[in-house]
Amino acid sequence: MHTKALYAGSFDPMTLGHLDIIERAAKIFDELVIGVTVNLEKKTMFSYEERMDMIREVTKDMPNVTVDKCEGLLADFVLDNGFNVVVRGLRNTTDFNEELSMDQLHKHLYRGKAETVYITAKNEYAFISSTMARQVISLGGDGSMLVPDHVLHTMRAKLGLE
Ligand code: ADP
Repeated sequence: MHTKALYAGSFDPMTLGHLDIIERAAKIFDELVIGVTVNLEKKTMFSYEERMDMIREVTKDMPNVTVDKCEGLLADFVLDNGFNVVVRGLRNTTDFNEELSMDQLHKHLYRGKAETVYITAKNEYAFISSTMARQVISLGGDGSMLVPDHVLHTMRAKLGLE
């Protein structure tokens, strides 16, 4: 069976934790699409175009990875685009508990056509969140252990720090 996996999130911005999940998922599944969610109510540091551009640049050498805009209900996006796998990253028991309840909903909404697969974070990335990266980098802290280099430069340029 051809496996077409979706890894969706806001990626505001993409972190080293996200990148690690992407690299590992890309080895397991035939195709991996990074779905950048567009949420007009949630104020993001980067527009969805900027978030997509950063992910494209960082993943440009991964031949089975593409980036797409993910709008509306996740389950509709999954079914309309023929995904049979949805990848989620798990950092800790807070993520786990949230994912368990979402999973009950998705088992229903995916109508047996897609399965959610959880990949646990590596220890060294399990504490990283996009919120933490935005806070540290906007205050001028060293963000090199939080986000890929390209993301760090893009953020610092946007903040007028370089
Ligand atoms: P959302 O807006 O859905 O919270 P995020 O961009 O924060 O999106 O995260 C997308 C996915 O990546 C989620 O499954 C989340 O649990 C996972 N994730 C986030 N940070 C990390 C990390 N440091 N290590 C592993 N997985 C992570």
